[in-house]
Amino acid sequence: MPLTAMPPDARGVRSGSEKILMLGSVVAVAAILAIVGWLLFRELGTASEAAVRSANNVVQLIDADVQRNAELYDTSLQGLIAAWRRPDLMTISPELRQLVLFDRATAAPYKGDLVLLDDTGRIIADSTSLIPRQDDFSDRPGFSDLKNSGSLALRVDGPFLSRWGFKDLCISLSRRLPSDDGRFVGVASASMRLSYFDQLFRTLDIGPTSTVNLLSAEGVLLARQPDDNTRTFIGQNFSMRPNFKRILKEVNGSFAAVSELDGAQRLYTFSRVGDLPLIVVVAQSRDDVYAVWKRNALLVAGATGLLCLGIVWLSWLLGRQLRLRHKAERELAGLAATDGLTGLANRRRLDQVLKQEWARGIRTGRPLALLMIDVDHFKAFNDRHGHHGGDVALRSVAQTLAANIRRPGDLAARYGGEEFMIVLPETDKSGACVIAEKLRLAVEGLPPFADDTVPITISIGVATHLPATHDLPEPLFHAADRALYRAKKYGRNRVEVEPYVHPDAERQA
Ligand code: GH3
Ligand code: MG
Ligand code: MG
Repeated sequence: MPLTAMPPDARGVRSGSEKILMLGSVVAVAAILAIVGWLLFRELGTASEAAVRSANNVVQLIDADVQRNAELYDTSLQGLIAAWRRPDLMTISPELRQLVLFDRATAAPYKGDLVLLDDTGRIIADSTSLIPRQDDFSDRPGFSDLKNSGSLALRVDGPFLSRWGFKDLCISLSRRLPSDDGRFVGVASASMRLSYFDQLFRTLDIGPTSTVNLLSAEGVLLARQPDDNTRTFIGQNFSMRPNFKRILKEVNGSFAAVSELDGAQRLYTFSRVGDLPLIVVVAQSRDDVYAVWKRNALLVAGATGLLCLGIVWLSWLLGRQLRLRHKAERELAGLAATDGLTGLANRRRLDQVLKQEWARGIRTGRPLALLMIDVDHFKAFNDRHGHHGGDVALRSVAQTLAANIRRPGDLAARYGGEEFMIVLPETDKSGACVIAEKLRLAVEGLPPFADDTVPITISIGVATHLPATHDLPEPLFHAADRALYRAKKYGRNRVEVEPYVHPDAERQA
């Protein structure tokens, strides 16, 4: 029931621009999130690369220091073996022999004692005293291995508690002592105190929850910094643990795995110490590796979140402004197309709709009907009830007309004064007459105004036409006007029909 008329594209423009705004902000937010996410992901990779690099540096540092010291020990052992094999050794005095045997054994830091054992494990030369201590080292695992294996390589054993001297944990570095024909005649052995590793590891800054470890090639943990406060792992054998197996297999490298000691996710970087049977392992915790990244990621994520919220909020504000503006525009357009007194479409809108429907009629080949309506004896009505009473009556007639046309394309308009027009698209002559009669009866059926005894009535002129391509709507107007004139002439409160007369025919007539 088109009492007022909205510009046809108002709703479409509104939803279109709002959709573009929403889509734009969603795309902007998604792009920002994707870029920041990608950057953070890349930074994560960089953080783990940097962690491996710095762990590698630590490993190399330890490697170099331990290797240098082990070389010092080995030089002492080899010096001891070389001196012992000299045939003239026993010809010199015990003091001189002591000097010859152990002259290279003084330089190593955290040095324990240096001993030469015979094939039964008994001490035959001792760096700590001229007269060798009465002790038997044949129970040490390294001793029997060196005896049975025939290997001349440097061997590392331990850790064990030193029986003499400092009484703290030591490892031993030993070599087999062969006779000229290669038989086993004894062992040269040096002990190194584990406190050496502790002080070496303490100088390294690897993060509060990361550890640096030294293991023997057999998988025994020799040193660990920081060690567990509640229980020590020193001396434990890790050779059956999968992480250690992998370290032993790969020799040098880095991998991430769950620690078998504390169940934490760790990044292991490891290397074998030169040719020695020692392995340095730096086990960095994820917390240490990603601590800086986490802090930065939190900052960046927070700032990005705020930025995205800002964009969404601004888009929402802008969208609301757009909605309000379009609503105001629609209301203005409605007002510009509406008659102020009756609320029906005004003359401007009537012309617009008539033009559109005329063009549609040409396209679809369906007839168009026009009803011209005039209130009967309205001058007299005004005289009886005053101008205000007349306005009230006009409003009531307008509402009755609007309420009795129901199809979506139908339009009721105030043409001027007490005259109205109804446009009925796709309606032929008989249909238009039915509706005209219905409108006439509806107005006549209204209760008489105030103290009137008769109701208000209307006269209706009907004209219909099936518009052809070059036809114009004006003759339809004239025909409806002629019909209305006839209705007035034949007594009012009635419906009359006049045919559409083509302008050429009208001119000839
Ligand atoms: P008829 O049409 O039946 O021949 O008689 P009529 O008295 O209606 O004739 P006419 O069309 O000449 O008079 C129309 C009158 O309608 C004139 C004017 O007083 C009144 N009128 C026109 N516009 C308005 C309006 O907006 N409000 C009021 N109250 N009256 C109006
Ligand atoms: Mg009139
Ligand atoms: Mg009139």
